[in-house]
Amino acid sequence: MRSESVHAHSLWIGGGWYQPSDGERFESIDPTTGTPYASYAAASAVDVDAAVRSSTDAVDGEWRELSASARGALMIALADRLGAEAERIAETESRENGKLIGEMRNQATLVPDWLRYFGGLADKIEGRVIPVPRPDAFNYTVREPLGVVGVITPWNSPLLLTVQAAAPALAAGNSVVIKPSEVTPGSALILAELATEVGFPAGVINVVTGLGPTGRALAQHTGVAKIVFTGGAETGQAVHVVAAERGADAVLELGGKSPNIVFADADLDGAAAGVVGGVFGAGGQSCTAGSRALIEDPIYDEMIERIVAGARALRLGDPFDHDVHMGPIATASQLNRVQRMVTESVTRGATVLCGGQRATVEGLPGGFFFEPTVLSDVPADDPIAQEEVFGPVLTIFRFRNEEEAVALANGTRYGLAAGVWTRDVKRAHRMARRLRAGNVWINLYRAMTYNSPFGGYGASGNGHLNGVDAVNEFLQVKSVWVELSEGVRNPLILGS
Ligand code: NAD
Repeated sequence: MRSESVHAHSLWIGGGWYQPSDGERFESIDPTTGTPYASYAAASAVDVDAAVRSSTDAVDGEWRELSASARGALMIALADRLGAEAERIAETESRENGKLIGEMRNQATLVPDWLRYFGGLADKIEGRVIPVPRPDAFNYTVREPLGVVGVITPWNSPLLLTVQAAAPALAAGNSVVIKPSEVTPGSALILAELATEVGFPAGVINVVTGLGPTGRALAQHTGVAKIVFTGGAETGQAVHVVAAERGADAVLELGGKSPNIVFADADLDGAAAGVVGGVFGAGGQSCTAGSRALIEDPIYDEMIERIVAGARALRLGDPFDHDVHMGPIATASQLNRVQRMVTESVTRGATVLCGGQRATVEGLPGGFFFEPTVLSDVPADDPIAQEEVFGPVLTIFRFRNEEEAVALANGTRYGLAAGVWTRDVKRAHRMARRLRAGNVWINLYRAMTYNSPFGGYGASGNGHLNGVDAVNEFLQVKSVWVELSEGVRNPLILGS
């Protein structure tokens, strides 16, 4: 149900609602109608400081004193509580980002898996005894939390991307300060509220809503040990610089320009569905959107026909309507950017095979809709072939052999994902080896789980989330030495 009232929210700091230091606010806009959905506090640097201090107290106090098993049990309790609230979370997210209620519901149902998986890992984080070549010394390692981790997220999969970053950080014993996207702050506040309800100590999960400056204040704060940033490449680089200037590190999960590569021997039904779903799923507002289709010459015309037919069959409309395939673009400024990028590429000679324009949907005159768009005749170095559109725009290229496919696929600064469609098992693995991308999908697209590592190459980021090794992003190693002999060593000579 589409409620008409605009809810007003505060920040969440120290286990409860927190009145911001000044009265600045902003509104999230329902992109389906173009009208305000909720009102949020814009956290100032003073508020960010309060959040970091509260999270520091938590990580140095109650959170650290809990056993790892108890920490994990709390994460699992939060998973159960979130699962019970999946519908409320999905509705909030769909209202704020315009993605299909079915997709947001699916995500809200999956999010608890991340908390269960990493909650289960919390008491399996172990050190080692090192067999040092000194028989009378005992050396072991302890893996310790970093402290306060700053989590900055985008709007396209708000809670999923928040928990993907926060769960391994919490399992490792850190506290988190979350800065959700200004487009979709609602679900992060629900997460923090539920965490307090199930017994998380105050300050372990704080939420500072706000615009870019709030995120910058978090990245700049000397009390934040590490930033996990998920968002655009330019913002991510800026965050990285700000963190590095004070000696802190950042995990960066950034954008992509991912190729979906179809060989002539592929199952063309599967490949066409994968290409269409790969780019038009979520209206192209996915970091792994397969925004470039590379098609082998003998099937080029046939695949174009199939892809264009698939794009034309997509129904645009209210994301709460179950017959709809694609909702609106999440923001008015993003809608304008998509239109500008398409129009400029056409000016440079691109052919529009379908779409290309803002769409109007009956009954939703204020919605930010854009037609599913397929372009061809685009040079490989054209901006629309090189830069992320983050909208429902596919650019099609022809290739003649594997060499050409690899060169085209690897020919951007990004390296997030790649799809390969072929029945030839040798070629499939050759391609997987040669593609410069953090995720390669063979005869499927957009697969992702809590236990398989996810990260980008090149401008798509650095560091990995998901999978057992993700906890290592949030741990530091201490090496402890113990003298076992009764003798006195000469401390003036190293290694004596
Ligand atoms: P964005 O870069 O505009 O914003 C991301 C977050 O950064 C927001 O919370 C924003 O308020 C904050 N921010 C803005 N300026 C900041 C600054 N100077 N310092 C600190 N924080 C700042 O991205 P977006 O438009 O919200 O999201 C879309 C982008 O996210 C796309 O590029 C998409 O590919 C990427 N993304 C990547 C992944 C991944 O896992 N690799 C997943 C989803 C989305």
